[in-house]
Amino acid sequence: MDALATLPLDPQALRADFPILSTTIHDNVPLVYLDSAATTQRPRQVIAAIVDTYERHYANVHRGIHWLSDQSTDLFEEARESVRAFINAPAREEVIFTHGTTESINLVARSWGDANVRTGDEIIATVMEHHSNLVPWQQLAERSGAVLRHIPIDDNGELILDEFDKLLSERTRLVAVSAVSNVLGTINPIEEIVRRAHAAGALVLVDAAQSAAHMPTDVQRWNADFVAISGHKMLAPTGVGVLWSRRELLDAMPPFLGGGSMIRRVKLDSFEPADLPAKFEAGTPPIVPAIGLGAAIDYINAIGLEKIHAYEQILTRRAHDVLADVGGVKIFGPPLENKAGIVSFTVEGVHAHDVAQLLDRQGIAVRAGHHCTMPLHKRLGVTATARVSFYFYNTLDEIDLLGRALADAKGVFRRRKA
Ligand code: PLP
Repeated sequence: MDALATLPLDPQALRADFPILSTTIHDNVPLVYLDSAATTQRPRQVIAAIVDTYERHYANVHRGIHWLSDQSTDLFEEARESVRAFINAPAREEVIFTHGTTESINLVARSWGDANVRTGDEIIATVMEHHSNLVPWQQLAERSGAVLRHIPIDDNGELILDEFDKLLSERTRLVAVSAVSNVLGTINPIEEIVRRAHAAGALVLVDAAQSAAHMPTDVQRWNADFVAISGHKMLAPTGVGVLWSRRELLDAMPPFLGGGSMIRRVKLDSFEPADLPAKFEAGTPPIVPAIGLGAAIDYINAIGLEKIHAYEQILTRRAHDVLADVGGVKIFGPPLENKAGIVSFTVEGVHAHDVAQLLDRQGIAVRAGHHCTMPLHKRLGVTATARVSFYFYNTLDEIDLLGRALADAKGVFRRRKA
C-alpha cells in the first residue's frame, strides 16, 4: 500500500492553507519550516478571520453601547467559548485572556502567589522548565521568602517521580510543570503529578504552551489548578494567551493588573473588582488575536488532535532515524513513545549555531541555542542544542531533506577543519 495513504492526515492538502510554506528563500530555495515550537505558521482561515474582523466587525469590546461594539464583543466571547470547549473547562468565566503563557504564569505568581505564599513555604518546578516557568517563581521567592525546589530528570530526559515524592511536603504550596518540554519533547505525566501534589496539599500549574496544539487538553481530566497557553504556538496571532483556573481559586485571588474593565466600581481612593473573567482582563484585551485564536481552534478541531499527535509521532520517528544515519549526532530526550514532535540534538564537532546557519542556507529553519532553558542545558552538559520541531504541515520528505542537509553540513565542517 502507498505509505502516504496510511498517514493519519494529508499534510500536502493542509499545506495549501499556509501561504508562507510555499515561499522560497535565499536564492530561490524552498522554505522548510522546522521551528513550530518557537511559533507556528497561520492558515488562510485564521488570517481571513483577522482581516474580516478588522474590515467588518472591529470596535472595542464590552464598552460601547453600539452595534459594532456588540458585534466585536460577540466574536470575542465566542472565541472564549471555543477555548473553553477546547480545553474542556467547566465554565466560560474560568477562561482568562492574557497576552501569552508568560503573562498567564506571571499572573498566577503575582496574584495567587503574593496572596498565599509566605516565608518558608516551598514551590516545586522542574529542571526542564522554560524560563517563563522558572523566573516568575524566583521572583515570587524573592518577594515572599519562599524556597524553590526542582524535580530532577533522568538521562532519558524524564522527570524522576521518586525524587518528586521526596521534595513534596506540607510546606509545598505549588508545583509548576510543563505538559511537554520545549527542548526534550518529553510528555510529562500531568495527571500523576497532580495526584501526588494534591495528596500533599499543593496546587499545580501546568505550562501547556507546547502541548495545547499537539494533543488534547482536558483540564478536568488533568485536575490541575492553573493551565497556561499561548495562541501563537497554535496557529493564532501573537499577543493572545489563556489562563484557565477553577472559579473558586480565581474568585479568591486579587486582581493582577489594575485599570479599566476589571472594575465594578471606582472611587478616588478605592475600587471594587469586576466579576470573572473581567477581573483579570484589565485594559483593552487582545480582541482580534483572541478572535484569531477562535478560528485557529476551529481549524485544529477540523483535523483532530488525535490525528495530529499520531502524525507528529511518525515525523519524530523519521527524524530520529535520519539523524542517526548522519552519524555523530546526539539526540536529547526520551524514547519515541513518550516524545512530542520536538527533537533537540548536537552534532559532534559543530556548534549548534553553525548547524542552524548551514541548514538555513539550504532553506531549513531550525532553532539553535538554549531555547530559554539554561538550567536544563546545564543538566544536559551542553551550552546549546539545535532543535527541530514539527507540526501537521511538515512532511516526511522535509525530514529526509534535513538528514541530507545535515550530512552536507558535517562535510563542510570537516573540509573547513582539514
Ligand atoms: N513555556 C514553554 C514550554 C514554551 O515553549 C514557551 C515559549 O517558547 C513559553 C512558555 C513562553 O511562551 P510565550 O513566549 O508565548 O509567552
